[in-house]
Order: sequence, then structure tokens, then C-alpha cells
Amino acid sequence: MKISKIMLYHVVMKLKAPFETSFGKSVYRHGVLVQVFDDEGNTGWGEIVADEGPWYSYETVETAIHVVRDFFPLLLKDKEINHPEEFFDLLQRIRGHNMAKAGVEEAVWDLYSKNNNEPLYKALGGIRDKIVSGVSIGIQPTINDLVKVVGSYLEKGYKRIKIKIKPGWDVNAVEAIRKEYPDILLQVDANAAYTLSDIEVFKKLDNYNLLMIEQPLEWDDLVDHAELAKMIKTPICLDESIKSLHDAISAFKLNSCKIINIKPGRVGGLKITKEIARLCNEKGRGAWIGGMLETGIGRGILVASATLPGITYPNDISGSDRYYEEDIVEPPWIVNSDGTISVRNKPGIGVEVLEEKIKEKYSKKIIEINF
Ligand SMILES: [Mg+2]
Repeated sequence: MKISKIMLYHVVMKLKAPFETSFGKSVYRHGVLVQVFDDEGNTGWGEIVADEGPWYSYETVETAIHVVRDFFPLLLKDKEINHPEEFFDLLQRIRGHNMAKAGVEEAVWDLYSKNNNEPLYKALGGIRDKIVSGVSIGIQPTINDLVKVVGSYLEKGYKRIKIKIKPGWDVNAVEAIRKEYPDILLQVDANAAYTLSDIEVFKKLDNYNLLMIEQPLEWDDLVDHAELAKMIKTPICLDESIKSLHDAISAFKLNSCKIINIKPGRVGGLKITKEIARLCNEKGRGAWIGGMLETGIGRGILVASATLPGITYPNDISGSDRYYEEDIVEPPWIVNSDGTISVRNKPGIGVEVLEEKIKEKYSKKIIEINF
């Protein structure tokens, strides 16, 4: 196939409830939906998970639009793409901008699998038809609120709880949850809010049988994490620090982590997601798929990714109703009563994208890029 056109939709969707992490609070979720057209007029969908501002990473909605609009056509025009795994290398000259690359690459995967009449997870090499869903809970107004929110998600069937932590909202939060729920699968995510000088906090957290602690230190660090790993029992999981296969290889060489939270957007798409999952498997390390508050399009990409061999822990992939009143796909993603999400055995991502709703209700800006 050859790409003939890319449509970008800058969408703004109101979250059901504000989502707070150690780096800030979101009330609206910004993102860029991607629609790729091949030379026969067939289309595929993807999602660029960059935020409005450079808070999680340096990429933003505007940098993603700039890079896709102004540089992708130079590298993709008239290029024959036989398989989506070739796509990442076509963009090799562009350094970084992984979220922009991933959103378009995912749309190429969706298009490719639809053209082959095959579900995306099968095209990827997935090995399961259900994935284990976990939920990520932001910082709440009070500890009591937090314990109540945890209870409400356990009732909905989620099998693993992750809470966001920051200095002053860490040991106290974990202690309160453990008092109420001593045996649940529980993990914490610091989003890089600490330094090695906070060792006492980490040592206290060691007492609560946490599944893992995610990205405790600097957002692109590997060396300090390796040092911390020697001092604590709780396994370290890296998120922000792993932006490429090379980073994953380095992290394992240094022993910076035992587990990787793979986000397709952060690493540049599904090809690299597969490679990191394969590496984790080979090295006997853990892996799971993390989310970025995706709409039903990106959520479907996450579900497909979580079927890969090498994914060994519950994923941060919740139902559509976790974040949004309504989704932009039909049917929305639903968590089964056993805490799993079923893959769709339909071509591509396996959902109907509600194009009119995207255009009329949620798009702030629509950009057409003709090749
Ligand atoms: Mg994280």
C-alpha cells in the first residue's frame, strides 16, 4: 500500500472526573486522532497520545501536528509499505517524536489488518483473546476518598489497583488501602516525583507487599534507578525512562528495573512495543501495557498490544466508562465481571469509529494532509 492522505483530528474530551498525578491535574483530555488513507481509499485509525502541554513528555498536540504535517509527507510520499513493521524505519530520520510516529503507525496497522480481513491482535502476533485489566487511580482530595474509590473499582471487577503517589501522598495512602484490603494486587506510580534522598519513603513502602513501584526517580534516568534497586525489595518498573528498544536494553544491562510499563505511544508504536515485549520475555523480566487516557481507538490498540507474548502483568487498560461519559467508538470497551477485557474478533481494531461525532462534537481542529 501507499499512503495517499492523513487526516488529523485534534480532539478535546471532558473527563468524567479530574485525573491528578504528581505532575498535575487534567480536567480535559486532548489528543490527536489519526485517519490514514491508502491509494485505494481504504482507511485505518490511530491515536496520538500527546497531551496539550509537555508534562508527561516533551511532545504536545501542537508538536505532533507540526511533525506529522510538515515532515511525514517528505519521508512517506510514494513509498510502498508492504507491512506495517516497515513503517517505523521509514521515519528513522526524525529523531524522537515517538507519540506522533506511533499514532500514524497504529493507523497503518489498523488499515493493513482491515485490508487483510484480520483482527489487529492477530496481525500483531497476539496469543490471547482476553487481557487482564487494571485501573490507575489519581490522587484524591482525601485518604478516605481514595479508599472509597479503590473499593468501587474492586466492586467493578478490576483485579489490580495502581495508585498515583507524590511526596506527602505515599506511605499514608498505601497504609490506608492495605488496612482495608490486605491482599489485593496493589502497585504505586510516582511519575518521577522523588530522588535517591527519599530512600526512607521507599524503605517504608517495602513493608506493604507492593507488586511494583513505577518510575520513582527522574523521568529519563536509568543510573539512579539501578542504585535504588539495590536498596529496596519492591520491584522497580520503568515507564517514562524507556523511550526506545535501546533504553530497554540499557535498563536491563544496568539492572535499573525488573519490569517495563510499555506504552505504544511513548516508544514509537507497535513494532517497538513488540520488540520490547519480546526482550522482556527473553530476559525473564516483566512487562505490561500502560495507558494514556485513550479514547476507544487508542484503547483498542492497547488491548491488542496486551495480547502479545511477553506481557506478564495486569495492564493499565480500563473500560471506556472509566474516563468518559461516551466513547467515540461502537461498541465501547467493557470490563468483564472477571476483570478482563475481551479482544474483538473483527478486522483491524475491531470497533466502528463514530466519524461524525468526532468531527461535529469533539474536534477543535481538523488537518488534512495530502500526499
Ligand atoms: Mg506511569
